[in-house]
Amino acid sequence: MRKKTVRDIDLANKRVLVRVDFNVPLKEGRVTDDSRIKAALPTIQYLREQNCRVILMSHLGRPKDGPDPAFALDPVAMRLAELLQAPVRKLDELTGPGVEAAVSAMQPGDVILLENSRFDPREKKNDPELIAELAKLGDVYVNDAFSAAHRAHVTTAGLASALPAVAGFSMEKEVDALEGILSQPKRPFVVVLGGAKVTDKIKVIGRFLDLADTLLIGGAMSTTFLKALGRNVGASKVDDEGLELAAEALKKADSSSCDLVLPGDVLIAESVEEGAETQVANVDAIPDGWMALDIGPAAAANYKALIDEAGTVFWNGPMGVFEIAAFAAGTKAIAEAMAACPGVTVAGGGDSVAALNKFKLADKIDHVSMGGGASLEFIEGVELPGVTSLLDK
Ligand code: ADP
Ligand code: MG
Repeated sequence: MRKKTVRDIDLANKRVLVRVDFNVPLKEGRVTDDSRIKAALPTIQYLREQNCRVILMSHLGRPKDGPDPAFALDPVAMRLAELLQAPVRKLDELTGPGVEAAVSAMQPGDVILLENSRFDPREKKNDPELIAELAKLGDVYVNDAFSAAHRAHVTTAGLASALPAVAGFSMEKEVDALEGILSQPKRPFVVVLGGAKVTDKIKVIGRFLDLADTLLIGGAMSTTFLKALGRNVGASKVDDEGLELAAEALKKADSSSCDLVLPGDVLIAESVEEGAETQVANVDAIPDGWMALDIGPAAAANYKALIDEAGTVFWNGPMGVFEIAAFAAGTKAIAEAMAACPGVTVAGGGDSVAALNKFKLADKIDHVSMGGGASLEFIEGVELPGVTSLLDK
């Protein structure tokens, strides 16, 4: 990465404000998936070893108007303390005299977690006063929240205007993994895209038609492409807004050296539920009233064979309604093929990562991006304020 990281500046004994992504799922006051907390541990531990006073900031969920106890960070602090095996002091505010007093009482190696940054309406407005109030608390700003880097908020970018700003290890890993596949992918470079909508991912499709050797399409994205080709897709979910974009992408694919591959067969059913009767149908023969809910076995085998031979694989978006076991086989086949692929493998997207976790294959993938929206924007070539605002190397 071309930006400075915590390794590139002297941090010893400093007060360090760290933006982490602790936007984790909660249930009954407990964290139900702590992978994002775990991702921040290397940076936090490194700073503690440098005798820093570590002041953590994060948002959680989308609180509507100001503080809302349902989105308070207390359960996160509890889980973080368990993982660090060290005390974590959770404050009930983001800034103010109480916070300043707590910070000035910190000892080297201490960890404080400030309250949900989105409880302050000035966070999302990138408000200069909030930047100044927070900047008073620290000597250095570390951004370790790649998944929020597409937002120009106070804690995700604004603070970089007031303090020396560098990347944490998780941020560095995310950027390096994506930069690696975009700049010098080992070939063949195979991209697998699926999920619900073409509209959300059309720019990503365009970028990969320029960069990749093969683009494998699945999920409701493939039914949209099939419909754009004039096929009858029965009652399948189609992103109607995306039909024209799909047609344009097909045209672009004709003149590109990248092969755009659609499934030749699909798994169909009349209802989206466990126990529904399923059939395998050729994509030319989807009966009226039936829905394509997964790629078919022939498509899955074909996609698997292409992934087996790949030098680089990037995957975003499930191949079917994997949340229901009857329609999970296509997504599982992709996940297994990636896990076995000797090439460089990178996966991203909230639901795709959930699928990898469900099949217990996440640790067999070289890089699992927590990025979601941020990674898609990065791939599109959009400059992310949370990254560009950091100091250059
Ligand atoms: P990601 O979060 O990995 O980027 P998306 O949010 O784009 O993925 O899409 C995931 C959703 O798409 C899942 O909830 C899945 O059930 C749905 N989906 C995939 N294939 C189909 C299909 N053929 N019909 C309806 N929904 C589908
Ligand atoms: Mg999703």
